[in-house]
Amino acid sequence: MVEDTIFALASGHGAAGIAVFRISGPRAAGALAALGGGRPAPRLATMARLCDPASGEMLDHALVLRFPAPASFTGEDVVELHVHGGRAVIDGVARALGGLEGLRPAEPGEFSRRAFANGKLDLAQVEALADLVAAETEAQRRLALEQYGGALSRRFSQWQERLTGALAEIEAVVDFADEDIPAGALAHALEEINETTREIDSVRQGEDTGERLRSGFHLAIIGAPNVGKSSLLNMLAQREAAIVSETEGTTRDVVEIHLDLAGLPVIVADTAGLRETADRVESEGVRRALVRAEAADLRLFVIDASRPLAVDPLPAAVLGGDSVILLNKADRLPLASVEQAKNVLKSKCSLPVIAVSALTGAGIDDVLRHIRAFLEDKLSGLGPAPLTRERHRLALSDAAEALARALALADRSATPEQVAEPELVAEPELVAEEVRLAIRALGRIAGRVDVEDVLDLIFSRFCVGK
Ligand code: GDP
Repeated sequence: MVEDTIFALASGHGAAGIAVFRISGPRAAGALAALGGGRPAPRLATMARLCDPASGEMLDHALVLRFPAPASFTGEDVVELHVHGGRAVIDGVARALGGLEGLRPAEPGEFSRRAFANGKLDLAQVEALADLVAAETEAQRRLALEQYGGALSRRFSQWQERLTGALAEIEAVVDFADEDIPAGALAHALEEINETTREIDSVRQGEDTGERLRSGFHLAIIGAPNVGKSSLLNMLAQREAAIVSETEGTTRDVVEIHLDLAGLPVIVADTAGLRETADRVESEGVRRALVRAEAADLRLFVIDASRPLAVDPLPAAVLGGDSVILLNKADRLPLASVEQAKNVLKSKCSLPVIAVSALTGAGIDDVLRHIRAFLEDKLSGLGPAPLTRERHRLALSDAAEALARALALADRSATPEQVAEPELVAEPELVAEEVRLAIRALGRIAGRVDVEDVLDLIFSRFCVGK
C-alpha cells in the first residue's frame, strides 16, 4: 500500500512557456487545495491562483487538473499544475509542495513504477514509455508507440494463453490417466506447443533488428589515416541525415554521432579521435577502429583513390560482414582511372565499390542509397511488435528452450497420430513442467512474474517526473 504522495516537475528544465508539475498519491487533491487551487471537477482544466501556504505569497496563475483514482496515469489521485515555465516559478512551487506534510519529491521513475504497481502499465509498456520519451527518429517513435499500445505484451500473452491451454490438456492426461481422456488431447497439446515454438522462432529471427531500431543501427567508417573518413562523415551528415546528437562513445576517443537517416536511427562511430593518436600509436588506433568495425551492422571502408591500390590486403573485419568500399577522392583522378581502380578492387573482393568524393560530394547520394537499401532490407524481415531489448530476448530464449525440451521429451519426431495415445509419451508430467517454465518466462515480459530483481533496474533509468 503506497502511502507517500510524490511530486515532480514532469516537463523539462530550462526556460519554457509552461512547466508541468505532477502530484500523485492520497494527498494530491489536498495539496492542490492547500495551494489555493480548490477542488476542480475531475479532468477539467481550471484556472487557479496558486499561493505558498507557508507565506501566503502568490506563486503563479496556473492551469490545474485533477485526475481522481483510478482514472489517472499512476492509478492514484493525481494532480497536474501547469505553471509558467520560469525558474523562479518552478522553484517556488516545488518549495511550496515540499513544505506540505506527507509530500515528498519523487524518485526517478517513481510515477511509472506506481502505474505498474497499480496495473496501469505492464513492464513492456513502461519500457516503451522510456523509449518514446527518448525517441529521436520517426522509426523509433513508431516502434515505441506500438509497444506502448501493448503490442508486444499482447503477443506474449497470446502465447501464454495458448500454452496454458496445452498445459491443461497435458495435466488432464497426467491426472486422469486411467479415465477417459478425449482421444488426441495430448497430440493437440503438442501441436499447440509446436505452433507456438514456430512463432517464437520467427520473432527471434528479427530480434537484433528490433533492438537496433530502438537504439540505432551501427555504421562504422574505417580506413587508414587521411583517406577522408571525417570528411565523408560530414558530407553524409550534411547531405541527407540530420545530426541528432553527439554522445561520448564507450571507447575513449570515439565520438558517436546519431543521425536520422530517412527516419531511421543510425549511429556512426566517428573515429576522428583515433587519428590524433595515430601518429603516436598508429597500430593501436587502427586496432580500436577495427574492433569497432567488427561490431557494426554496416562498414564503410574508405580507400584513397589517388594512392596506389595494390597496398595492404583488406582487413578481415571488412571482408567478414556487410561492408561497402568507398573509393574516395575520386575527384583527383580522371574518370577512366576511377573505373579502372574500381575494377581492381572488385577483382580482389566481392564487396560493392562506390566511387565518391567527400570534397565535391560526387557519389554521396549513391552511398546514402546503399545505406538506406541495406537498412530497409534488414527491416523487411521484421514482423509486427518486434523485441526491443535484451530482457525480451532472454525471456523469449528461456521460453523457447523450455518448449524445445518439452517437445524433445514428447519426441516430436513421431507423427501426431503416434502421440495421439497418452501412453506413447513416457513422462507427460515432465513435459508439463517444461511448459510451465515457458509460460513463466513469457510472463516476465509484461512483468507479471519473477521480476522483482529487474524492477529497480528498469525504473531507476527513468528520469524524475515519469
Ligand atoms: P581521415 O583521416 O580519414 O578522417 O581524413 P580527413 O577527412 O581528415 O581527410 C584527410 C585529407 O583529405 C583532408 O585534407 C581532406 O580535405 C582531404 N580529402 C578528404 N576527402 C577528399 C576528397 O574526396 N577529395 C580530395 N581532393 N580531398 C579529400
